[in-house]
This record gives sequence, structure tokens and C-alpha cells, in this order.
Amino acid sequence: ALSPGIDIDTLAWGKQDGLLPAIVQDACTLRVLMLGYMDRAALVATLASGKVTFYSRSKGRLWTKGECSGHTLELVSVETDCDDDALLLQAHPRGPTCHLLRASCFPSAPADRLVELDALVAQRERERPQGSYTTRLFEDGVRRIAQKVGEEGVETALAAVAQGEDALLGEAADLLYHLAVLLRARGASLGDARRVLAARVA
Ligand code: AMP
Ligand code: ZN
Ligand code: ZN
Ligand code: ZN
Repeated sequence: ALSPGIDIDTLAWGKQDGLLPAIVQDACTLRVLMLGYMDRAALVATLASGKVTFYSRSKGRLWTKGECSGHTLELVSVETDCDDDALLLQAHPRGPTCHLLRASCFPSAPADRLVELDALVAQRERERPQGSYTTRLFEDGVRRIAQKVGEEGVETALAAVAQGEDALLGEAADLLYHLAVLLRARGASLGDARRVLAARVA
């Protein structure tokens, strides 16, 4: 059940401690960020405030993630599992989720790197850091970026028929990067193209 329909009373709150485990996932990259525990009050507070709030077993009280650090988790959705004894939350992290200042408490938790690429390219476009190749592409404009996408497309095609796998994957990566920059320069993103693709598959 997604957050609008979530029924707090039918959840299988722990018989001993009144808690449920809650997995938090980055809503954009789907990366697992952390695991915490919630009691009813924590879930009510999370839904009311839009900031992910746990019951901290070590603190012995409600704990809004980011209450000191500012690294909050802005709630997107809550879902329960098949037998209502676990929660899956999607959220937008404001800063690193782990207190060790890592994005995830699980250092190697897989993330969607293309989403991260989109975000990085968008940040470069906003901030235009000097000395950045991406900044130079944005300053050269859409025609130049489009030309680069054409070149990288041809290089990818040539590598596919005449070169080894390493060369092919390198050219494919160049193509994806320049495509991300081109789409951004036109006010879109890889994510937008992916949604079009997903609608075709569905
Ligand atoms: P914060 O909620 O980010 O303001 O952090 C407050 C305190 O909560 C930190 O000093 C840590 O003790 C603890 N803490 C912060 N983030 C995490 C986390 N992801 N998992 C477990 N404990 C955390
Ligand atoms: Zn379960
Ligand atoms: Zn951590
Ligand atoms: Zn290339």
C-alpha cells in the first residue's frame, strides 16, 4: 500500500517493542540509504511532517533524521510489505544520510549511475565551474554538443564492428555522457528519455 492508503492500524507492529523495520531508498537513484525502526508515533510524524522520523532504540525517543545535521530525508512514499511487518520508504536525501558523511549507510549499496550523471550534468549547467569540460560544452551551445553526440555515435558504431569490448564500452560511455549534456542543453534529461522508453515497453 502506498502512503495515501496506508492503514497504520493494520500494520503488524512488533508485539514486544511496537516497532517495524523501515528501509529508506533514494527516490531518484533507488539506492538503499539506511535501515531504521519506526513505532506508530514515528510513522505518524513522518506522514505529517514529510520528514522521515524513526524511533531510535539507542536514544529511546523519536528521532527525525537530520534533526542536528540538517541531512533530512524528505518523504516521497511509504509502502508496506506482503505481511505488513516491514516498511519501504522512498525519500529525497538532503545531504549524506550516513553520520559518516556517506550517501548511504551501506557503502557499496548499488545506485543508478545514470540518474547520478543526470544530476551532475544539471549541477554543472547551473554552476558553470571554470575549467570543467561540461561547462565548456554548455558555453559552446546546442549545435556543438549535437555534433559531439554525432561523433560519439559514429565512434560507437565503428568500435562495435572493428574494436574490442573495452573500446566499445568506452565509446558507449562517451555517447551517454554527451547525450546527457545535449538533453540538458535542450531542457530535458536522460531520465525524460528513459520515461519515454519505459512507456513503450509497458
Ligand atoms: P542527524 O539525525 O543526521 O542530525 O544525526 C544525529 C545523530 O543520529 C548522529 O550523531 C548519529 O548518532 C545518529 N545518526 C545519524 N544518521 C544516522 C544513520 N544514518 N544511522 C544511524 N544513526 C545515525
Ligand atoms: Zn514481511
Ligand atoms: Zn550510517
Ligand atoms: Zn569517443
